Amino acid sequence: MDKEDFLPPDDEDDDAFNDEENLCQGCEEEAKLNRDGLCASCADKLERDLIRKREWRRVPAARKQSREALELLRNRVIKEHGKALELIAEEAPEISRNEAEKRALKKAKRRKRRQRGV
Ligand SMILES: [Zn+2]
Repeated sequence: MDKEDFLPPDDEDDDAFNDEENLCQGCEEEAKLNRDGLCASCADKLERDLIRKREWRRVPAARKQSREALELLRNRVIKEHGKALELIAEEAPEISRNEAEKRALKKAKRRKRRQRGV
């Protein structure tokens, strides 16, 4: 038998919520919060965001999963809840750099085509 299939007892409290209500860090509603200071609904959002971002080490449900299983999980989250992050702030996309690269690529292609054409 593989003992590692069982989580150590320390991890059992991962989803434990406090008994008293406090302001949630995510939605600022009064609710019972977990260790991260999030209500149940925001905790779900955070988990989905971490899955979208492939931050597997921070997703308890991702433990001991194969890469394929994780990708399937991610695809399912995106299909059901969309691709946009719900709780974590989206990092500023590096559009300018990508656009510059694309333009350089196009230019190179055009140059090649011209050389061939002559
Ligand atoms: Zn919340």
